[in-house]
Amino acid sequence: MTVHGSPGAAHRTRPVVRTVPAATVREGAGFVVHRPFPTPALPDFDPFLLLDEMGPATYGPGEALGAPDHPHRGFETVTYMLDGAFEHADSAGHAGRIGPGDVQWMTAGAGVVHSEMPAAEIRRSGGRVHGVQLWVNLPRARKLVAPRYQEIPAAEIPTVRSDGATVRVIAGTFAGRSGPVATHTAVTVAHVRLEPGAALVTELDPAQRCCTYAFGGPRVLVVYGDGDRLRLTADGPADLLVLAGVPLREPVARYGPFVMNTREELVAAVEDYRAGRFGAIGA
Ligand code: MN
Repeated sequence: MTVHGSPGAAHRTRPVVRTVPAATVREGAGFVVHRPFPTPALPDFDPFLLLDEMGPATYGPGEALGAPDHPHRGFETVTYMLDGAFEHADSAGHAGRIGPGDVQWMTAGAGVVHSEMPAAEIRRSGGRVHGVQLWVNLPRARKLVAPRYQEIPAAEIPTVRSDGATVRVIAGTFAGRSGPVATHTAVTVAHVRLEPGAALVTELDPAQRCCTYAFGGPRVLVVYGDGDRLRLTADGPADLLVLAGVPLREPVARYGPFVMNTREELVAAVEDYRAGRFGAIGA
């Protein structure tokens, strides 16, 4: 599939500049994730702060683990399910459930307490869970915006199919389509499925940095350099998460679930959370 721009324009295809292996770590109550960043080798991918592939894992009855009540401030958390289902609830009064192909885009902003758990029937009876969690930073001017919750069912995600490539556009503009998520920053998030030997060539805003991560694949993040065109290929079948965004180029101060610009702001976040100012789920 080739998405054409202005005829005759000279294009520059983004080169691969770096590959970064994912670390394997335990998160939440102890479930295993594959994490390309943050790691010592790659502290972030401005404007993205964290990328976790959750599973794939097949749980027995009573085994499935999630992330019970915990706070966030200063950024957005995104969950994209590939298999299984997750349930979410937060102190701003939002609750929801996402299944395969659905997206949950939660803006923590000024602060929420939320829980992210495998669906009740998976916790009870077991089942397969596979998904992605992404943290998107907020710029200084928006770190304390009101919390927001966007739940996008799979059917509302634009899908483009052509020449062995299937593209689902979650946020931003990619392969000629725009995703349904309202974003605070200039970011692009897409899922590209390639059949063996297929290639996808598309324009991508040159102001956005870009990387891809293959779900269930070699667990390597591929970082692309400057250019106005992205070319993705696969020898075998591949499911690629495409992340692109205009870097914020601001100081990043992070302490667990809080990501601010300065240490003082982190101290204030911890104090506000401990004082109960983020509220509580169901309160
Ligand atoms: Mn969380």
